[in-house]
Parts: sequence; C-alpha cells; structure tokens
Amino acid sequence: MTDLHPHRYPKHADPEKGQVLGGECNRTVCKAHGAIWFNIETRGFYCKRDAWAINEDPFFGEPLCIEVEEKPSLEEMDRLHTEFYERARKRRA
Ligand SMILES: [Zn+2]
Repeated sequence: MTDLHPHRYPKHADPEKGQVLGGECNRTVCKAHGAIWFNIETRGFYCKRDAWAINEDPFFGEPLCIEVEEKPSLEEMDRLHTEFYERARKRRA
C-alpha cells in the first residue's frame, strides 16, 4: 500500500488511483497510466496530457505539476506545497 496524504484530492474509491507513481492518472474521468507528473496542490499523479493541461493555467505563475522520478514523501509533499505558495505570494506582493 502506498502512503496517502490526508490532503490528497480527490479521495478516490480506489486508493491507488492517482497515488502510485507511473500508475493511473488522478483525474477522475481519466484511465491513462504512466502518471509521473506530481500535482503539488492535489498531491496526486497525472498523465502527461492532463498534467500539461493543468500547467497551461497561468494563475500560479509556474507549473503546478512537476515530473518526478520517485514519489515524494508526505513531508516532501508538504514542503513542495508550502514553498510553492510562498513563491506565488511573493510574486503577487
Ligand atoms: Zn490523465
């Protein structure tokens, strides 16, 4: 069983969906595998197509989904999240 972050979104009925590096994409309607893009906000993994679509949103000022070679630990997920929003806040200041 893989580590599940308490703030992951959404909480799929299949707890591995979107939570396994290289597994099924976290997007509810997507069945693609090979999900290696980690979304800092949802703490889930996405297929390339969905990750790139999410990253096109200019709202955050930098990509929300990052390609990773191993699953971040829960502590690393929190650090990524904190640092991401600190950078976003500074850009808007
Ligand atoms: Zn997908």
